[in-house]
Amino acid sequence: MLHIPPDILRDMVDHARALDPNECCGILAGKDGQVIEHYRITNILAKMNDGELARFDQAKLSDLQQLTPDERADIAFQMDAREMSMAQKDIRNKGLQLQAFYHSHTSSPARPSMTDIKIAMEFESYREKLNIAEPLHVIISLENKANPDTRAYRIQACQATEVEVQTG
Ligand SMILES: [Zn+2]
Repeated sequence: MLHIPPDILRDMVDHARALDPNECCGILAGKDGQVIEHYRITNILAKMNDGELARFDQAKLSDLQQLTPDERADIAFQMDAREMSMAQKDIRNKGLQLQAFYHSHTSSPARPSMTDIKIAMEFESYREKLNIAEPLHVIISLENKANPDTRAYRIQACQATEVEVQTG
C-alpha cells in the first residue's frame, strides 16, 4: 500500500498537466509506504528536439537508438541525473527513504509500458549497490483529462504488480 497525501497528489497531477503533451517525472519519499516528501525532477527528454536527441550520447540514452520508434516514443522521460542525486541526498538527510518514482502518461492508461518495465529492471540491477530502498512505480494517466488516474506498481523480474494507492 502506498499512501499519498492529497496535497502531494494534487501537485503531482498539476505537474503532469503543466507538462502535457510531454511527460512529467519525479520522486516520492517517506517511510513505510507513507509519502512525506515530493520532488519534481526535470524530464530532460521533454526539453530536447529530435536533433538534440540524436546528438545526445549519454551512456544510458545510447540504448534508445536500439529501440523501435514506438518504444522510443513510449519512454518519453529521462530524469535529470543531477536533480535525482540532489533529491536522494535530501531524502537521506531527512532520514526518509525512497518510496516511488512517478511519471505521467498523457494519452495512455496508468499501466507500465514494456519500456517502463525495462527501465525499472535496469534501475533494479544497480539499486542495491547504491543502498537505496526498492521503489514503487507510480503512473498518473491523463488519458481522461478531466479525471486523472493514479496507480502504483511493484516491478520485479519483469512483472508489474499493482499496489493499492490511498490518497485520503
Ligand atoms: Zn510510462
